[in-house]
Amino acid sequence: MISPAEAREHVLSRCRGPEPVEVASSDARGLVLARPVVSPEHVPPFANTAMDGFAVRAADTVGPPVVLDVVGTVAAGVDPVAAGIEVASGTAVRIMTGAPMPPGADAVVMVERTEVAADGATVSVDVEVPVGNHVRSSGEDLMIGDRVFDVGTVLGPGHLGVLASIGIPTVMAHRRLSVGVLSTGDELREGPGALAPGQIRDANRPSLLGLLDELGVEAVDLGRVADDEAAIEAALLDGAARCDAVLTSGGVSMGDFDYVKVVLDRIGDMRWMQVAIKPAKPLAFGRIDGVPVFGLPGNPVSSMVSFELFARPALRAMAGHTEVDRTRVRATVVGGLPRHADGKVHFARVAVEVVDGRFRVRSAGGQGSHQLTAMAAADGLAVLPDGDGVSDGDEVDVLLLG
Ligand code: AMP
Ligand code: MG
Repeated sequence: MISPAEAREHVLSRCRGPEPVEVASSDARGLVLARPVVSPEHVPPFANTAMDGFAVRAADTVGPPVVLDVVGTVAAGVDPVAAGIEVASGTAVRIMTGAPMPPGADAVVMVERTEVAADGATVSVDVEVPVGNHVRSSGEDLMIGDRVFDVGTVLGPGHLGVLASIGIPTVMAHRRLSVGVLSTGDELREGPGALAPGQIRDANRPSLLGLLDELGVEAVDLGRVADDEAAIEAALLDGAARCDAVLTSGGVSMGDFDYVKVVLDRIGDMRWMQVAIKPAKPLAFGRIDGVPVFGLPGNPVSSMVSFELFARPALRAMAGHTEVDRTRVRATVVGGLPRHADGKVHFARVAVEVVDGRFRVRSAGGQGSHQLTAMAAADGLAVLPDGDGVSDGDEVDVLLLG
């Protein structure tokens, strides 16, 4: 058996993502930047008002109340220079949020601190305001030449808004990966029909496709194949041709019909690992024409845990992420998490809650590698070092899922 750290290192060192590409900014949510973004513009592009009110000269508001002549109106989208609107001493211009400051004005009085005369010709201002009051100056958020986003930035909704605000139509980014999922096993069926004796339904494909979807990659359903060398080989070659990486489940244990590792050994540069963890001890990892193939174990919990520990970090690295692992926290165990010493690190499926700002975990249910309901109920994997487990009230490391 090898340590999980060694297995992880083996896998990560053999996964390289595709070269960065130019992507439309509007399609870039969730992608990782491969080149920095530099602003070609000031944001805001011009000085404008943050409030509805009156553009004034601050000096005119000394000793309120003061009465000023109203000499025009500037709405958002209007150019006061082109419209010939200007604020001279003793005058004010009605102005709407986002409208450019008219020449001559150096402050805005919010509408709530003013009262317009019945004829609309004058406005009474009941507050003294400083220069710059409620004015958003040009370049206050970004200046031309500013480095807006660094390499490695994960583009979220706010980033897309910034890119749009500075008129950047495309970015150089790590493109969305496409990752195939294949199930193997003669016993597998799907759908609602009755099962013949010995058959079970394929649970791994939906959960692995879901994990990929959650990761923001394109999940490609490669279907399921029987325990048949030729069929497995054809499906793996097809997946490697169409995808940036392939996940299989089943067929990597010690059984007589575990052909995934046999095929991977023949057509890829496979290493078959026995990792000192529970669940998810067997892991086959190889590459077909440079495309990483993760031979995950068949038991449903094992395939998900193996994905979490090995495939997920590798796929995140391939997608350009610098932070590839789940967040690890310390948590107090409620009710204990017993285990037996067996030379392995156990990853117990736990429900996580935050009480008074501290993490608490308890078992999410049956801990067998076939008991997927506890995995479904889990928000975390508690890391139980070799030994007798963790008692009620003790602390444990937990990988937070989602
Ligand atoms: P294997 O590694 O192929 O020997 O599979 C180990 C266990 O996982 C067996 O009990 C299989 O029936 C089960 N198994 C394999 N693939 C799946 C799957 N896609 N969905 C549910 N159970 C599976
Ligand atoms: Mg099998």
